[in-house]
Amino acid sequence: MKFLCIPCDAVMEFAERQLPGDGTLAAIFACPKCAREMAMLTNPMETQLVSGLGIKVGGRTVPEQPLELATTSISGGRPDAFVEAPLAGSVTWSADAKDRLQNVPSFVRGMVKRIYTDYARERGIPEITPEIMDRARSDLGLEGM
Ligand SMILES: [Zn+2]
Repeated sequence: MKFLCIPCDAVMEFAERQLPGDGTLAAIFACPKCAREMAMLTNPMETQLVSGLGIKVGGRTVPEQPLELATTSISGGRPDAFVEAPLAGSVTWSADAKDRLQNVPSFVRGMVKRIYTDYARERGIPEITPEIMDRARSDLGLEGM
């Protein structure tokens, strides 16, 4: 990661770093030509992302925490949640249930479908109907999906 002073077309030099210990980080970069300064502030998660990419700030890495923890919680804990399962077991969707799935915004439809499919498969339910969807929603606390 580098910052460029646009008027000078010069790479800014790292000037100061603070690691208060709560995971936040403030770094000052200064232009060697015009002495313009800029500060980079990050919150704990961003600090983890930066350090997880192997970027050293000020010559010292931020204390390590597994990056996977951060990325997993960003994506909702299911790395494969956005991939529609090719194997849906023997679970089928009734026409009514499929219609209802169409009401789900397309960008989460695959994930929602997966949640319902998993729910049915885990309980040995062979066909997902609107009634099953209702039951899954209240069982899983997914009101509004
Ligand atoms: Zn400059």
